[in-house]
Amino acid sequence: MTRRLIFLGPPGAGKGTQAKVLAQQYHLPHISTGDILRQAVAAKTPLGQKAQSYMDKGELVPNELLQNLVRERLNQPDAKEGWILDGFPRNVGQASFLDDLLPELDQNGYSAINLEVPDHVLMTRLLERGSKEGRQDDNEETIRRRLEVYRQETEPLIDFYKVRSKLKSVNGNLPLGEVTEFIQKVTASGNI
Ligand code: AMP
Repeated sequence: MTRRLIFLGPPGAGKGTQAKVLAQQYHLPHISTGDILRQAVAAKTPLGQKAQSYMDKGELVPNELLQNLVRERLNQPDAKEGWILDGFPRNVGQASFLDDLLPELDQNGYSAINLEVPDHVLMTRLLERGSKEGRQDDNEETIRRRLEVYRQETEPLIDFYKVRSKLKSVNGNLPLGEVTEFIQKVTASGNI
């Protein structure tokens, strides 16, 4: 069964957590552009060196870098039968790029899962994660900027996918297991 899922939602909505659980259950690669970038930063690769200053400030890394990264990753053999994208696309340019790329790779059809969580919950969750996982960009100032960037750049993707009939919204402000169940329900039919 082919499943291609894009996880949308603000920082702290639980995209990474849910994507990980679902990827395991559906035996699909979990492709987190944030994780790939953090690894590149830690390994001091050319990509990591270019990306770091944007990430530290809570800004988006330039599209060109992300698009090369995603093209390469989706071209890997393990992505042929499906994938879960977490953190990409983050703006309309990236979403249009993906819509052009997928037919080229013979990967047709996907769903966008939008996790809805109120703002005050996001801030609390992100500050908690910052103290638990030590993520550089989980401090109050950077979180504020990431939420702003989300509103300006990423939120328009909700409409982008709605008009293409790809959007499935899920309440992300519920216990982890319940959110997983809702996502399973909306993705249950397979073939997206
Ligand atoms: P995340 O782990 O998804 O919250 O991403 C952490 C940081 O990595 C973001 O704040 C951005 O600086 C960068 N990043 C991750 N994915 C993207 C993307 N699709 N486009 C631009 N920047 C990204």
